[in-house]
Amino acid sequence: MTDTLTEEKLTFQAEVARLLEIVAHSLYSEKEIFLRELISNAADACDRLRYEAQTRPELATSDQPFKITLTVDKPNRQLTVSDNGVGMSRDDLVKNLGTIARSGTSAFVKGLTGDAKKDLNLIGQFGVGFYSAFMVADRVEVFSRRAGEAEAYRWSSDGKGEFTIATAEREAPGTDVVLHLKEGEDEFLADYKIKEVVRRYSDHVPVPIELRIGPNKQPLNDGSALWHKVKSEVTEAQYKEFYRHVAHAMDEPWLIIHHRAEGTIEYTALLFVPSARPLDLFNPDRRHRVKLYLKRVFITDDCKDLLPAWLRFLQGVVDTPDLPLNVSRELLQKNPLLAKIRAGLTRKVLSELTRKAKDDPDAYLGFWENFGACLKEGLYEDKDEHRTEILKLCRFHSTGSDKPVTLDEYIQRMKEGQDAIYTISGDDLGALRASPQLEGFAAKGVEVLMLTDAVDEFWMPSVGTYEGRTFKSVTRGALDLDTIKGESKDDPKPAETPAALGALIVLFKLALGEEVKDVRASARLTDSAVCLVAADGDLDMRLERLLRQHKQLDKAVKRVLELNPAHPLVKKLTEMTGKEGASSVLEEAAHLLLDQARLLEGEPVPDPRAFAKRLGAMMERGLTRSIHHAKG
Ligand code: ADP
Ligand code: MG
Repeated sequence: MTDTLTEEKLTFQAEVARLLEIVAHSLYSEKEIFLRELISNAADACDRLRYEAQTRPELATSDQPFKITLTVDKPNRQLTVSDNGVGMSRDDLVKNLGTIARSGTSAFVKGLTGDAKKDLNLIGQFGVGFYSAFMVADRVEVFSRRAGEAEAYRWSSDGKGEFTIATAEREAPGTDVVLHLKEGEDEFLADYKIKEVVRRYSDHVPVPIELRIGPNKQPLNDGSALWHKVKSEVTEAQYKEFYRHVAHAMDEPWLIIHHRAEGTIEYTALLFVPSARPLDLFNPDRRHRVKLYLKRVFITDDCKDLLPAWLRFLQGVVDTPDLPLNVSRELLQKNPLLAKIRAGLTRKVLSELTRKAKDDPDAYLGFWENFGACLKEGLYEDKDEHRTEILKLCRFHSTGSDKPVTLDEYIQRMKEGQDAIYTISGDDLGALRASPQLEGFAAKGVEVLMLTDAVDEFWMPSVGTYEGRTFKSVTRGALDLDTIKGESKDDPKPAETPAALGALIVLFKLALGEEVKDVRASARLTDSAVCLVAADGDLDMRLERLLRQHKQLDKAVKRVLELNPAHPLVKKLTEMTGKEGASSVLEEAAHLLLDQARLLEGEPVPDPRAFAKRLGAMMERGLTRSIHHAKG
């Protein structure tokens, strides 16, 4: 095909030569991306001819549809990527495959340091486009004919500083990129490998890709990008299959968001909310998996800034024509366009969730169960922006309802005189329900929200209020339930602390010393004798536990021990104060009751031996007395 008389030798632009040197010597592990790059170029060429033919119908010569063909020639160890797209003229070949035209690419080359390791790393994050062919080939030939022109040309190079251009022949417009594979790159002749790579990176290229090995022809994709179809043209089954493919999941999508944004920025998103919670949802990396496509070409599934971390349960793709294709992942992260896409997607997802919560509240609870804890991270991460919307999406277990409730429902049911949204938090719903601190609220019929996600400890202090009502933990601070008009006639009355109880409290304080912050009469207990609460302004007890678990806090915060004045045991102890010989018993009782309160909190008793000893002694005394009674 080559006419040697017309062959011309040309040198690569200096930047290209430099780039090629690195590419050729790269031991880069994802060499396979060369195929993505060549397929992407082929698909672009088809797109461009499709576009040009709109105004120049004579260009749409071939009656065959657009197609990308991968041809394997095993004996000659060649892999060829062909397309029937727009093709390249002689000048195009020189310019496109001899210089770096794109600003993104030149910026990348300028970023090369000369330090092989660092540069390799950069290349890894960067599509080097056509030149990536030299990662696997020691010679690349390009046969191309521009649509609308009669001549074809052959571009050829070993990637070492020079390339040649010669006239050639090609039946129809289009391009063949012939890779003469390097020693050791034979896997790219194997059909399983090619299939795998195409499936991985190019499955959704909107041009059919066909693999030819010898007489065998097989399609590798169906040539359509599902997300670019109109909603009405996509069936539920297709959405589902696509979801399973992109998410590597086996469940059903719970919610499908197929959304096209047009205007200053253009993008199409096909996003899914799974119906099952993936195992890695709470991995520390908090990565989302949504794939970024530029014009139907897969770029990355690791573009952090595409979505906030608190929406990482989403799966799917986002495709935009507005980003340069050869943009490095690093450059992507700082791209202002991405910030806009992210804002648009976030708004869209929240509004879809809001709609779903309204239309099908029961199904929404299933979503909330899976991903609520994740969504709540948005309450303190994206501060004011989406706070109200997310708060309205929140559901809480409540002492006032069998089903999780919304904050609005809670507020509607608030009692006269109640101005706070009361909460209690802990890991276990059952244990929370049995908390002594809830007793006074139960007696008054005041609802308390039970928070069981660790994240609750973080958003509540930062959010503070909802619709003017403060979130208030029932395990922290002094309580004044008196101002709330309760349901029951005989509200628990803390009233004034009687003098005798005052004496008992003084005695307890003396006995417990540094172990507690304070001892006081409780307004929140009806059945239990004692409970622990955090002092106003101190860390709530659960947060403290969490922080200690994560070694963020090494010493325990002192708590307030509250006594229930109405409890028979406390009454007894009160009677005993001041009696002769009672002080040592009262001292023991103080320690025992403190330990009991700790146990009720689910906290370990700090000195189990002492606890066991005191309990034993106390039981013995009790038993001796019962025996006396029995005898008497
Ligand atoms: P990019 O695709 O980002 O422009 P590449 O290095 O992949 O960068 O390709 C450089 C240029 O070469 C392309 O912009 C295109 O003009 C041209 N080109 C590459 N492959 C083909 C092809 N198969 N058909 C037509 N033009 C091509
Ligand atoms: Mg390209």
